[in-house]
Amino acid sequence: MIRWSQQLIPTLREAPAEAEIPSHQLMLRAGLIRKLAGGLYTFLPLGHRALRKVEQIVREEMDRAGALEVLMPAMHPQELWEQTGRFGVLKEVMFKIKDRQERNLVLGPTHEEVVTDLVAHEVQSYRQLPINLYQIQTKFRDEIRPRFGLMRAKEFIMKDAYSFDMNLEGVERSYRAMYTAYERIFKRAGLRTKAVEADTGAMGGSASHEFMVLADAGEDGVIECDACAYAANLERAEGVGRGEKVFADADKTPAVVATPNRKTITGVATFFQTTPARLIKTLIYLADEKPVAVLVPGDREVNEIKLKRALKCAALALADDVMISKVTGAPVGFAGPVGLTIPVIADEKLQGYRGAITGANQADAHLVNVDLARDAQVGTWGDLSNANAGDGCPRCGQGQLVAKRGIEVGHVFKLGTKYSEALGAGYLDPDGQRKIAIMGCYGIGVTRTLQSVIEQSHDANGIVWPISIAPYQVEVLPINVAHGPTMEAALKIAAELEAAGFDVLFDDRDERPGVKFKDADLLGLPIRVNVGEKGLAKGVLEIKLRHTGEMRTAAPEQAFAAVQAAAAELRQAVTPA
Ligand SMILES: [Zn+2]
Repeated sequence: MIRWSQQLIPTLREAPAEAEIPSHQLMLRAGLIRKLAGGLYTFLPLGHRALRKVEQIVREEMDRAGALEVLMPAMHPQELWEQTGRFGVLKEVMFKIKDRQERNLVLGPTHEEVVTDLVAHEVQSYRQLPINLYQIQTKFRDEIRPRFGLMRAKEFIMKDAYSFDMNLEGVERSYRAMYTAYERIFKRAGLRTKAVEADTGAMGGSASHEFMVLADAGEDGVIECDACAYAANLERAEGVGRGEKVFADADKTPAVVATPNRKTITGVATFFQTTPARLIKTLIYLADEKPVAVLVPGDREVNEIKLKRALKCAALALADDVMISKVTGAPVGFAGPVGLTIPVIADEKLQGYRGAITGANQADAHLVNVDLARDAQVGTWGDLSNANAGDGCPRCGQGQLVAKRGIEVGHVFKLGTKYSEALGAGYLDPDGQRKIAIMGCYGIGVTRTLQSVIEQSHDANGIVWPISIAPYQVEVLPINVAHGPTMEAALKIAAELEAAGFDVLFDDRDERPGVKFKDADLLGLPIRVNVGEKGLAKGVLEIKLRHTGEMRTAAPEQAFAAVQAAAAELRQAVTPA
């Protein structure tokens, strides 16, 4: 049992203005964390206790799934990152330092390089595979805009695991084991998550899932079907367009219409008194430095991940104004596919577009009555645009897609052989042939998971902790600490609970009851035992459940059993099926 007066619980009546979302405000107000500088936080005792409990759940489930815990350095030689070519890709977000011998080091944002180097040295034979190594460790990212407390910080704790297998069946088994472990971890932490298909880069297939917490504060777009289980990150989601494709005057020939200063989709749609969907948005990109015209319906955004894959290019960027004028002959805002001499790639949702409107490739003019197949030279068709809410489901064909926001708390990913090839992580098979190991990687943002629980589980009065990760499970609150019998009864129940293994916080402060009750709700410990003079006179203690606000009473000698029963109910909610 810890006495409140001896614990460090600096609660705040008001959240500092910088805290924009409820979970960040509550972590500060309940005295769980304090900011040192932008994106850098200290865990105070209560925050640290909850963090340790989340870590313990992660550790138990990783061990249960057969992964082996290690601890790798946070500081890495830069040359290791150069060997896989990732230094060039990630150098903007990596903290780079030098030691006294002027050797270049980086602070790791992730550990594929380090773990693969380890396995390259320690694994020689197929008999040592499969193997899955994990750690719970601090990572570093030089975020441009750290925000939302622990959600996007410069320093954060992750669990990262890396599996090494001999064949694709093995990879699938490792992946499934981690997927199941993740479902159990989040359930045990009291977090409702949704596994969504995520972008896989060159791997293809459903080789990557993100575990998302649906929340308005989420920085990721999530698309889900209202009829089946299909759910995907917006970056990856496919949608079946259900809009019109043949518009008025579809059979007429293209005609130039003056549209002075109408450069935006909305501006042009308003001018023609039509919907943005009738417009063909034309963007000029440089793919490996060569210009290409990219067409999508006017009501959709280009998805650069999909575009990059369709173009099979290494570098992709929007062309600058000079290049746009050069290839279209018009200032920015008036590009269209008709008459272009550079390659044209079009979103498949534009197949069959007739009677459409595009830029005319001359200043202040648009082209109407465009039949895309008839009037333009489309070299390639592909899925190039984001799915929109209201699109048809690509999986079941019945449902409609809905857009949500999500916080990514976990990611499972089939990596393939990119790192094992670059760093020589291989093994000798039973025939003595040298083979390359196939990898998977699996991350959980531990500090982010902790904050996500609060984002998902709070009310107007404060945090509502799941019993599994609450800093303390029970708060014993003597209403008047100057009243002898009150203190005696309160200390007795606290001691009984502690002896039975409960973590107990004892509010021994000589404060007004209102202050103590408010603080108790703010802290949000799952079970509270109020001990007061009035209750004792009636022969009862009060047992309050934070998540429902339900107040139960029990005679002092039955209070222990009543708390145990309440705790058992609360544990049910965080027990995996
Ligand atoms: Zn569906």
